[in-house]
Amino acid sequence: MPNTIQVSGIPAFKDNYIWVIHDDRHAVVVDPGDATPVLRFLQDQGLTLAAVLVTHHHADHVDGLSRLLAKTAVPVFGPCNEDIDEVTDPVGEPDHITLPHLDVSMGVIDVPGHTAGHIAYYGEGRLFCGDTLFACGCGRIFEGTPAQMFNSLDKLAALPENTSVYCAHEYTLSNIAFAQAVEPDNLQLHERAIAAAETRRQGKPTVPSTLQMEMATNPFLRSRIPAIAQAVESHTGTHPADTIAVFAALRQWKNTF
Ligand SMILES: [Zn+2]
Repeated sequence: MPNTIQVSGIPAFKDNYIWVIHDDRHAVVVDPGDATPVLRFLQDQGLTLAAVLVTHHHADHVDGLSRLLAKTAVPVFGPCNEDIDEVTDPVGEPDHITLPHLDVSMGVIDVPGHTAGHIAYYGEGRLFCGDTLFACGCGRIFEGTPAQMFNSLDKLAALPENTSVYCAHEYTLSNIAFAQAVEPDNLQLHERAIAAAETRRQGKPTVPSTLQMEMATNPFLRSRIPAIAQAVESHTGTHPADTIAVFAALRQWKNTF
């Protein structure tokens, strides 16, 4: 992105982040589940809303739309395979969009699994992936299949490793605790646990992370690694038939961790 572009995180609800891509005049807001903190941020920073990006239909990602749009009517990009009333510009892979006023171009990636029509936005080294990929974790599979979620995460894993990953929740510490149960001998994961705990102790966000960090420590991107399959086998007592079975068992394990 041009140097003048920044990304700021607005904490919302208990553990959401609403990301704002902005320069010193215009702002594009990602997944505004709540309008109040967004309107306050825009006012404090003297920013004009230029557009909204939506990744999926869950209330904590879209419920702020109507109030935001009542104040300023702007284009709302969102998944073409989900029903979201406020979306004006339905998009899906392989669409590219240009963020109005910011001169930033982003590609749309279909990442079904958490919801059936979930999309992610990637541009100039930054990934906005909603509830698909989390720092050291992944979203719950509510509407898709494990195979779909696995393929979606695979697409994200194929992005450049220096990509900054802007996920929508601060779940990192509990995700790391699970990852350590799965892969206790992963040294980089151990270091990440210490660093993330300190970051949270200081009240700071642990996101964005980088794709490189996720590849090294996130068990859901590591289903192909023998140690992970081994851990799943020990936990479930059954031999997973293939990599997707490893991934599915891992997701199931996390659901009850
Ligand atoms: Zn969600």
